[in-house]
Amino acid sequence: MPDVLETPIEYLKGVGSQRGELLRKELGIGTYADLLLHYPFRYVDRTHFNTVGSIREEHAPVQLRGILRQVRMVGERQARRLTAKLEDATGSIELVWFRGLRWLQPVLKEGGEYIVYGKPTLFRDRFNIAHPEVEAAATWDEGAATPLQPVYGTTEKAAAKGLNSRGIAKLVQVLLPQVNGALHETLSRSLVDQLGGLGREEAVMEVHFPQTRERLDRALKRLKFEELFFIQLQLLKQKQLMQQEVGGNVFGQVGELFNTFYAHHLPFELTGAQKRVVKEIRRDMASGHQMNRLLQGDVGSGKTLVALLCMLLALDNGFQAALLAPTEVLAQQHFRSISRFLEGLPVRVRLLTGTTKAAGRKSLLTALKAGEVHILVGTHALLEDRVVFQRLGLVVIDEQHRFGVQQRARMQAKAEVPPHVLVMTATPIPRTLAMTLYGDLDVSVIDELPPGRKPIRTVHRYDHSRNAMFAFLESEIQKGRQVYVVYPLIEESEKSDLKDVADGFESLSRRFPLPKYAVGMVHGRMTPEVKDYEMARFTKGETNVLVATTVIEVGVDVPNASVMVVENAERFGLSQLHQLRGRVGRGAEHSYCILMTGDKLGNDSRTRINTMVRTQDGFEISEVDLRLRGPGDLMGTQQSGVPQLHLADLVQDADLLQQARRTAQRLLDEDPELRHPGNALIAAALQEQMKDRAVWGRIG
Ligand code: ADP
Ligand code: MG
Repeated sequence: MPDVLETPIEYLKGVGSQRGELLRKELGIGTYADLLLHYPFRYVDRTHFNTVGSIREEHAPVQLRGILRQVRMVGERQARRLTAKLEDATGSIELVWFRGLRWLQPVLKEGGEYIVYGKPTLFRDRFNIAHPEVEAAATWDEGAATPLQPVYGTTEKAAAKGLNSRGIAKLVQVLLPQVNGALHETLSRSLVDQLGGLGREEAVMEVHFPQTRERLDRALKRLKFEELFFIQLQLLKQKQLMQQEVGGNVFGQVGELFNTFYAHHLPFELTGAQKRVVKEIRRDMASGHQMNRLLQGDVGSGKTLVALLCMLLALDNGFQAALLAPTEVLAQQHFRSISRFLEGLPVRVRLLTGTTKAAGRKSLLTALKAGEVHILVGTHALLEDRVVFQRLGLVVIDEQHRFGVQQRARMQAKAEVPPHVLVMTATPIPRTLAMTLYGDLDVSVIDELPPGRKPIRTVHRYDHSRNAMFAFLESEIQKGRQVYVVYPLIEESEKSDLKDVADGFESLSRRFPLPKYAVGMVHGRMTPEVKDYEMARFTKGETNVLVATTVIEVGVDVPNASVMVVENAERFGLSQLHQLRGRVGRGAEHSYCILMTGDKLGNDSRTRINTMVRTQDGFEISEVDLRLRGPGDLMGTQQSGVPQLHLADLVQDADLLQQARRTAQRLLDEDPELRHPGNALIAAALQEQMKDRAVWGRIG
């Protein structure tokens, strides 16, 4: 029997081919099921109104009822807009629209009574509302019988053809009786009861046509939970399957190298967090399962050392290890610091990057295949097919967010038994996001910085106070400290950005002239040789100031650098700013981060800057970032793993997500194969969802 939910949307009464096409193209609604999943994004409480005179604050939504006055089309071309005034007994407020003018203007009648919903903003000391939703009072009152009216998302194009919120609501109204009985329950009886008792179908109906606020809340909770629960269940099931199907190399012993290094070569005591994490990883790698572990730790928390200890464990058990870094600069730095750490130990460490000369590369690859190279450090070059290991046991991936899922998979394919994988990230990911994205991985967190780190003083300065900033840099340089000045370079190919860096270099060179001072510069358009040369000069203290783009964002470690100046800080994302700031505060007594911006800042930019000034906690920063950008943007386009959520929200529903995770985990612990009759509905729904998942194990 064909599933009624899969019926093409065209067949719904009132749709037809033209609107069907519009629904598909504009709103992604192709089937009955899609329309059901097109949930309202808010509800109008028809019983409650604000008054113009009572508006006090910006951005808090208001619902007003009044007479429309002075409907005007003003401005030319780009600046063209529609304005009107809404007048009630307490005053009047300006309304303005910049888009959708053509179909809005004829709808808005001067002297007519309207209901207006929107968020007031202050402009020249007066409130106005940009792009409010409007509805004639007459049609509004018709709907007043339903106190909570759903508001559906739409587009201007769709709305112009009658598919505004009201139009969509009508379609849903037609649809609901037809799908009666087709929406199967997916949760167990006991879970449904825990969540307030509404069955799946009942809940979907309630969300589209709420009877009471209280029932609506229960329906929303149930559906959100269901969404989050099945994501968690899939991830945990996947992990379970991986562990059953894929064996892992057993690193059973802690041997000579690890012990010698630990006892005699460790330059400092490990922090408690480092010790704990090494233990977690050790246990994992000895378990007989393949390890897939995410290591989160703020910048400077000492992840490299943890990785090194794990690599030594691999070596002790007769395996090779690889360390993958996202940039040439970082790969070299890792290579140098690991070589230095291991001095005097019989471990052969080699570096392979895109710039490794052909001759050296050939002998390196031969040695690698023969097992004579123990640790291979490098960039993407490691992924090439000709890079063959004798016995690869552990892959460490640094700064994971720059590597795609496929690249991880390619690295894994380099051994018969998949190597253990340790993914390190210095960009803390909000807990909720980590849970949804990496729910199939184990997560370790280094939540403690090595002792003696001083807090970094972060300030926001405007461009016009640049001279004072320069004077401050001079005083720091005179104390023997070094300074980074970073410019935004979003696209390495953007010429205008490159010009900013070059201009910055010039003006700093003039302000800090030779021979007394030396200013260096690095950016992504330089050849690696020049870049390395410049980096090396700064590392050795031969340059006082390094003008740079974000090539220095990740991982670069120069303890004597005490000031990080970020130019056009408003153009950087929060996690980038946090990364940049992490370049200082690694040695010097006092460190500073100076965020330079123009006078005008948008709301989001201001929030970003203020957050940086307020806190140094990477996790807190990442939470703000998530709120500002949403999960998809936060992870970047490379991360395709962000699941689509219809109702739940990773910021607002964090508690529900926790609950869903715990419930899913408990369920699998108690009933690993989901065989209990009470779990039959869950098992069926899970199977249905997982059959669409082409890729099993995103990492393996
Ligand atoms: P990240 O986690 O950002 O990669 P690194 O591994 O680069 O941090 O470590 C930052 C600095 O702290 C390095 O200079 C490293 O040698 C040092 N370090 C690491 N662990 C400790 C420790 N337990 N005590 C003191 N310094 C440490
Ligand atoms: Mg690092």
